Order: sequence, then C-alpha cells, then structure tokens
Amino acid sequence: MTSNETAFFQAKSVIPGGVDSPVRAFGGVGGTPRFIASASGATVTDIEGRTYVDLVGSWGPALLGHSHPQVVAAVQEAASRGLSFGAPTETETFLARAVRERVPFAQRVRFVSTGTEATMTAIRLARGATGRDLIVKFAGNYHGHSDGLLAAAGSGVATGGLPGSAGVPEAIAAQTVVLPYNDVDALRGCFDEAGGRIAAVIFEGAPANMGAVPPRPGWNREIRRLCTAHGALMILDEVLTGFRVDPAGWWGLEAVASWVDGAPAGEFSAGFVDDSAVGGADWVPDLVTFGKVVGGGMPLAAVGGRADVMDLLAPVGPVYQAGTLSGNPLATAAGLRTLELADRGVYDRVNASAQAISTIVSDALSACGVAHRVQRTGSLFSFMFGEVAAAFGVYDYEQARAQEAWRYGPFFHSFLSSGIALPPSVFEVWFTSAAHGDAEIEAIAAAAPAAARAAAQARPPRLP
Ligand SMILES: *Cc1c(COP(=O)(O)O)cnc(C)c1O
Repeated sequence: MTSNETAFFQAKSVIPGGVDSPVRAFGGVGGTPRFIASASGATVTDIEGRTYVDLVGSWGPALLGHSHPQVVAAVQEAASRGLSFGAPTETETFLARAVRERVPFAQRVRFVSTGTEATMTAIRLARGATGRDLIVKFAGNYHGHSDGLLAAAGSGVATGGLPGSAGVPEAIAAQTVVLPYNDVDALRGCFDEAGGRIAAVIFEGAPANMGAVPPRPGWNREIRRLCTAHGALMILDEVLTGFRVDPAGWWGLEAVASWVDGAPAGEFSAGFVDDSAVGGADWVPDLVTFGKVVGGGMPLAAVGGRADVMDLLAPVGPVYQAGTLSGNPLATAAGLRTLELADRGVYDRVNASAQAISTIVSDALSACGVAHRVQRTGSLFSFMFGEVAAAFGVYDYEQARAQEAWRYGPFFHSFLSSGIALPPSVFEVWFTSAAHGDAEIEAIAAAAPAAARAAAQARPPRLP
C-alpha cells in the first residue's frame, strides 16, 4: 500500500506541485493531500484505506452523491457503445433540451468540456455580437483560467494569495475591467465612463469562489438594467450554482429567495426558499454558462442563451468555437441521467443537510468563542472568521480576504483527523449532496467541538 505522503512525493516528481489543479495541493491549509482511491455516496476513500465524509463533492458535480448507481450505469451503457465519435449524437440534443426545460432563456445550448471553455466562449460571443472589446468582471468572482478572466479571480488564485497570473499579456489584461463586487456606484460609474466600449458583464449569480458572498438584493437586476441601457451583454456564470442550488440554478432561486442580513445567528445569507415555487428571477441574462453538475462528474460544460446571439457561433455564424471531445457521449450520458434524477426531493435533501451542518459547526465555533459568520448562497455555505466579518458580514473580495483566514488550517486538519474532509481552503464553499444524511451529520457533530477548539487556539502567522 502506498501512503499519501509517498504518492504526493512521487506525483511531484512528474506533475507540477503533484496536482492537476492548484487547490488540491493543500497549499491553503498545509499538509499532504489525500490521494483518493474511490468515492461512494457521501464519502471518499483514500489510498491508505481511510474513509472520509466528503464536503467537497468534486467541487460541485456530486449533487446526487458520488458514484450514483444509475449515473454509473448510464456511463457504462454509453461506454459499451463507444467512447467518442467526433460526430453528433442524440444524447446531446436530449441534454440540451433538459437544460432548456429548467432554464428557458437558454434557447440554444452548446456543450464544451470545461467551465473555462464555456466562459471563454461566452465572452468571445459577446465580443462578436457587439463589436466591442471590454469585459467587466467583479473581484473574487471566478470564471475559469482563460487569459482575460484571471484578474482578481478568487478560488485557487485567492488561496495562493496571488493577484492574478503570470503569462497573461498586458494587452489582454487591459481588456478586462475589474470592479468591486456588490458595489452599484462603481458599476454605474464604469458604464458612465466606458459604456459604449463594454461588450459584456460576466458575473457569478451568487458568488461562491471567495467563500459564499451573496448578491445584495437587486444587485443582479441592476447589472441587467445597465447592460440593456448600454447595449452590453449580460453573462450569468452558473458553472458552480447551476442545477445545484435549485432546479434552475441561482437564477431559479433568486425568484423565491429571501435575504437574511444581520439575523440573530449573525448571518448574511441569501437563498432561503420561502415556498417551493419554481420560477425565475425578474431579470434574464443574454448568455449563461454551466459546468460541474451538468456533467454529473464527467468533463462537460455548456454555454447557452438567446438564439440570435448563440447562432453567431460557427457553423451558423462567424464566431469560431470547436472541440474534439465536445459533447462526449459518456459525459452527456452522465449529465442527462443526473438532471433526470435531480428532482425537488434531491434539492430539499441537499438544503436540509447544508442547513444542519452549517448550524452545528457554527454553534461549536460560538461555544469556543470564535467570532465568525456563516454565509450562504442557497445550499452552498462557508464560514468567515474574525470580529469584523462577524459584526458586518462579507460583501466583497476585500472583506473576504481581510478575515482571519489563518484559523482555517488548524480547523480543517482537526476535522480531517476526525474523518471529515472539508474544502482545503477558506475561500471555497462547502458542498453537501443528496447522499448526506443523519449518519454524516452525526459524524460532523462529533468532530465539530475539537475543530472549533483548534480554530480558537490558532495564532496568526508571525510577519517575517
Ligand atoms: C469552476 C468554475 C469555473 C471553471 O470551470 P472549470 O470546469 O474548472 O474550468 C467557472 N466559473 C465558475 C463560477 C466556477 O465555479
């Protein structure tokens, strides 16, 4: 049996940092990443044979839990008919229809392999449609790792403490305007100054890549108003929230969401559903991107939106986009079966476990005197540490980075040693699944007091 330590050492000699995506390397919390051998339901098992309650969920796709038997069967059945054809399949049409059923404004859908490709395609489309170059994004919103979208990007860039990325030409970075999140005055000012040059505003409907930082009420509607007034396109990035926080993603949830600001529990949260109505927000984006859940754990993502804009894509229109493995038959089979299975009951279970777990952990932190705030966007939640966050809440990237992030490493490792695997960064949200039930919640409750003590005893790093 290879140990995690040995596996990590060996991986580093052939793979930069030993990982294929930076946050996996545990840089934000220290220590050795667990090399996973298998996953099932609410748990993952590492190569040492240790099983953990998993609150990462492959960073979102595992809505139904890992290795759902019916999803695995759909993939096996598809695999038996061939792995890739480089030709159209009917499953792509069925999956596009399943997407459109939930999100009717996605009149056309094109499948790609990663969320990065989806957002990259969306901004190329917006530039092609408007004949303009500038893209507006918000600090702490993550849209994948393409050149123009890496500035102040949250997620792994936040975990690494990086301002952006080396290797992005200045001329390309200059085409991206980065504004503070939730700041209406800054957004209006930007449109006043440069409205005629802005191709699109790209944004997470409810950001979850700097921890959970919900939009203020009316914020997304204001993006819509300004885009319409200035002829820019509105690109809703639901790669993370799409089909996870609601059958119709954040867009569906915003219609029925309530906001809780400064509630007794000290929360700034959005996305509690008052009733089970399925509707849509009172604004509609021009383009939308999906990933993660839509592929059911396989490499699949999508860009969708208005037919007139989407039909600018080749082969109909002049905006080029392509992919050898796009719409892969195994990936579309996994995505289709996942969406078929993700009924109201699934979302109710995911919400219930998120609610239970966040409350248990918050109570444990409070019992140890650790100032914190729980923030939620639908079923996605995270903890913001420190007196300032506890008192005022976190509304943007600057505030997210100002929290007592150093409390998270000891907190994380205490949970890990008790068999609970949290996201290995304070800037990532926690994911539950329909497979998380009473047993998992009890295991987390048993582990929480020690983890809270570890957070209480943590000390800030000394400055060099
Ligand atoms: C994960 C994510 C992406 C990038 O998707 P990849 O499949 O990792 O390329 C884009 N946008 C958001 C909001 C994401 O959470």
